[in-house]
Amino acid sequence: MKRFLLAVIALWVALPAWAQQPTFRVLAFYSDTAERDHVDFARDAIRFYSDLAEREHFSFTATTHWEDCTAENLAQYRVVLWLNDLPHTAEQRTAFEQYMAHGGGWLGFHAAGYNDESTQWPWFVDFLGGAVFYGNSWPPLPATLTLDDPAHPGVRGLPASFVSPPNEWYIWKPSPRRNKNVHVLLTLSPSNYPLGLKDVIYGGDLPVVWTNTRYRMIYMNMGHGDRIFTDPTQNQLFANSLLWLSRPKK
Ligand code: ZN
Repeated sequence: MKRFLLAVIALWVALPAWAQQPTFRVLAFYSDTAERDHVDFARDAIRFYSDLAEREHFSFTATTHWEDCTAENLAQYRVVLWLNDLPHTAEQRTAFEQYMAHGGGWLGFHAAGYNDESTQWPWFVDFLGGAVFYGNSWPPLPATLTLDDPAHPGVRGLPASFVSPPNEWYIWKPSPRRNKNVHVLLTLSPSNYPLGLKDVIYGGDLPVVWTNTRYRMIYMNMGHGDRIFTDPTQNQLFANSLLWLSRPKK
């Protein structure tokens, strides 16, 4: 009996450690030297996803060291986040391409999707669904977003429209919606136009959150400033999307 009791106690002591084994790993890359509003967002995102990791029992690591963007290292992670930054060298780009080709997951925010003629990374433009940065609104303002597909797991449970906290909104030309592989999840509502004061968006079809169905990825335009995580509805989008991307590989 005494031995049995000891065994029960040993199990009880061991259980919390076992229960805390992370189910999967997530790695976030960010920059602490980018423009202030982009760094503020990155720090808030790290806090938000660290809390989510604790609740959902996965491991979450954030780093500014892009040297860690190697094929061997990335292979350990189910999802990689880019918080307003992207690979700095050709080797890091190649490692990321390999990671995505092998079923890796990616969640990119705001400036992580920025690309223009100086970027010189055609693979990435294709990966983003053909979206090329064309312009932006200024100053950061809230905007009404409408749901394109309520059934998609990344946005499931969200209302048909909601007001997203102040953000710098990007214009894409061409629009990723023109790509047959792109599934748009959220779009800027035309009711926002004209949007901006100094830099004004007067109209147009502007996807805000989308996935290129050829990859396990979601891009989100949110990510400018320290108010992005102030809306529970939008926070649900951020949590749902990461959890959807982190589903086990088939
Ligand atoms: Zn910005």
